[in-house]
Amino acid sequence: MTRKGALYEELPEKAVRCVACAHRCLVADGQAGNCRVRFNEGGELRVPAGYAAGLAADPIEKKPFYHALPGSLACSFGMLGCDFHCDFCQNWVSSQTLRDTDAGGDVFEISAGQIVDVARQRGALSVSSTYNEPLITSEWAVEVFRVARQAGLATSFVSNGHGTREVVDYLRPWVDFYKVDLKTMNPANYRRLGGRLEPVLSTIRLLYERGFWVELVTLVVPQFNDSEEEMRDIARFIRSLSPDIPWHVTAFHGDYRMSDRRDARAQQVVRAAEIGREEGLRFVYAGNRPGGVGDWESTRCPGCNALLIERAGFTVLQNNLRGGRCPKCTMAIPGIWTMEDVEAARACGRRDVAKLDIATLVAEAEKKFGQAPGDSTERAD
Ligand code: SF4
Repeated sequence: MTRKGALYEELPEKAVRCVACAHRCLVADGQAGNCRVRFNEGGELRVPAGYAAGLAADPIEKKPFYHALPGSLACSFGMLGCDFHCDFCQNWVSSQTLRDTDAGGDVFEISAGQIVDVARQRGALSVSSTYNEPLITSEWAVEVFRVARQAGLATSFVSNGHGTREVVDYLRPWVDFYKVDLKTMNPANYRRLGGRLEPVLSTIRLLYERGFWVELVTLVVPQFNDSEEEMRDIARFIRSLSPDIPWHVTAFHGDYRMSDRRDARAQQVVRAAEIGREEGLRFVYAGNRPGGVGDWESTRCPGCNALLIERAGFTVLQNNLRGGRCPKCTMAIPGIWTMEDVEAARACGRRDVAKLDIATLVAEAEKKFGQAPGDSTERAD
């Protein structure tokens, strides 16, 4: 279930350089990349296609997108593999296939058209590449999204953001909403997960600059990233791009190999959300503790504090927006609220983004949190 990929360069002696994620694996003939699902066959990079390991119509709030077509369904599909190996992965059965012998989700053959048919039958307004890391299966996502666009649907990626300039350019014509897990601001911790902080920050900046609708998520994991200082650093980074980027802080619960610590308490994610607000973010949400985080699941107007969208878990209880504006003070609220907004956003050019010296930011984070240990990523090169 593979095809010839698009995101790679040919090199001498039938080697290839994959550019679908920030590992930029150099893959010799007969070898696979770090993700194990892209491999070199006779000098051609073969990539996954024509199957799914999961397919479901979920509330778009589950992705989570709170400022993109609220209250709608997103038809979500996933494949196998990941370029990270997070101990707390909630989708490890499919994402760690070929890396962990206990993993190995079932797959079934399906065409792009059939995925879009399911989306339409279920009344979804969008199609989402999710569950495994979509960057490593970008070619298949684009194949599905081409058909989805023809059917009048929006499209999204739910990703770790460990990308490259090449993959962002490749996706830009086809992806409307992009969610990134900004997992930590500690470079050493990113190494432990199998990636690097710098490309994640650069990718977020690039996505925002190129006009994707971006929302960010940080899973608050006790003894991993839950210090006030780290939450504040994450919020400051987001604020430096734009105070209008929604930030979701969600509560960890034990999964996969991380069963050695307690779940994050509602109070902890509420405190993280407060920090986001203190740092100037205008849309901060606390997730994974429905009913336990007070008002932090809902959207309020940053101008007059009117209740705009009330949520309970993934359910929208009321949406008071009028044409994307606050019904009380008429402030325009950033987001892609309707399919007309999707069309308008596609036609928009680049956004102006403050110049950010990400290399210096990462060097400072290394000083603060400690030097990254030796490269724990299993690079193919
Ligand atoms: S990990 Fe996979 S997607 Fe990333 S560069 Fe290597 S082969 Fe490509």
